[in-house]
Amino acid sequence: MNPTKAYAAHSATTPLEPWTLERRNPKPHDVALEILFCGVCHSDLHFARNDWGMSIYPVVPGHEIVGRVTAVGAHVKKFKVGDLAGIGCLVDSCRECDNCKDGLEQYCAEGAVFSYNGMERDGSGVTYGGYSKSIVCHEDFVLKISDKLPLDAVAPLLCAGITTYSPLRHWKVGKGMKVGILGLGGLGHMGVKFAVSMGAEVTMLSHSPSKQADAQRLGAHKFVLTSDEAQAKSVMGYFDFILDTVSAEHDYNFYLGMLRTNGKMVCVGVPPNPVPLHSMSLIFGRKSLGGSLIGGLPETQEMLDYCAEHNIVSDIELIRMDQINEAYERMLKGDVRYRFVIDMSTL
Ligand code: NAP
Ligand code: ZN
Ligand code: ZN
Repeated sequence: MNPTKAYAAHSATTPLEPWTLERRNPKPHDVALEILFCGVCHSDLHFARNDWGMSIYPVVPGHEIVGRVTAVGAHVKKFKVGDLAGIGCLVDSCRECDNCKDGLEQYCAEGAVFSYNGMERDGSGVTYGGYSKSIVCHEDFVLKISDKLPLDAVAPLLCAGITTYSPLRHWKVGKGMKVGILGLGGLGHMGVKFAVSMGAEVTMLSHSPSKQADAQRLGAHKFVLTSDEAQAKSVMGYFDFILDTVSAEHDYNFYLGMLRTNGKMVCVGVPPNPVPLHSMSLIFGRKSLGGSLIGGLPETQEMLDYCAEHNIVSDIELIRMDQINEAYERMLKGDVRYRFVIDMSTL
């Protein structure tokens, strides 16, 4: 075992602080990475603060991991020492169920193993994420990273990127469709970039007036301030598809009203508490409400390759490891443009 410097939350109410965890020695199919950058997802905050009631302390968050390969097991074929590589939200799954065989490891029938707060399948304990100096993972769950893009801005693609890319692809967003992206944060800003690149007419739906100029800079064709009655009314019955990235409680019925007949709204944001849904919001207009969890390994690699081809990265603010608690507070206030990324050399 290898002692590795990390940052951990020890309870829901205490700040993250330095901690040392143990990483295993690479097994024959394992890849070891020195972590260079790690993105800060709102899910990290939800887990650190036990918002979903399922945190196992200490929690070492971080699932937008990019770095350089420092060691490989004897049977590893995909990587060699010195390669750039990435690890997202998943580090293991059964590989045998229908979902795993279909490349939908996130929906593994036996339960996918998440990069942190997950249980290792060999019973060796809890997984710890990317707020640490290094990580060891089976090669099947390690992604290839292009050296064409700035590495720090690539990190958020591993979660914010795939979580927005996957539903846009699954529901075939493209030319001729009117798409609303709800919430301009880490996920939302990637949603705008992808939906625009796929050819849709994109409207940013935000409750922050100060983000209008940014929405346009990111490529959005329209901006609607959702708290402004007249602006919200102007898009009632308008969209073919809405991607909902909001992290806090909000009224689904209100946003379903913005869909046209046969329209679909897909949730990726996970507010801490349930929100009432009236079936009438769906029935009138034969509308659908769906959800989507990150993306499987083949699609994550496809997304990374798509980004390298289309020159798409995240808009980031690079922080030091010791700024993480302040970054969480700013994230709660919506004060992030549009993803914090930790420079792991500062740990
Ligand atoms: P984020 O950067 O904090 O962005 C969330 C955005 O939601 C904010 O920028 C804000 O946008 C909007 N918002 C916040 N509070 C709001 C409120 N009270 N009313 C209306 N809008 C509000 O978070 P993120 O990292 O993008 O993550 C978003 C959510 O997705 C989190 O719940 C996270 O856990 C979840 N997530 C899910 C998956 C998945 O696989 N499904 C993967 C990753 C993350 P405006 O200022 O523009 O309104
Ligand atoms: Zn995430
Ligand atoms: Zn499986």
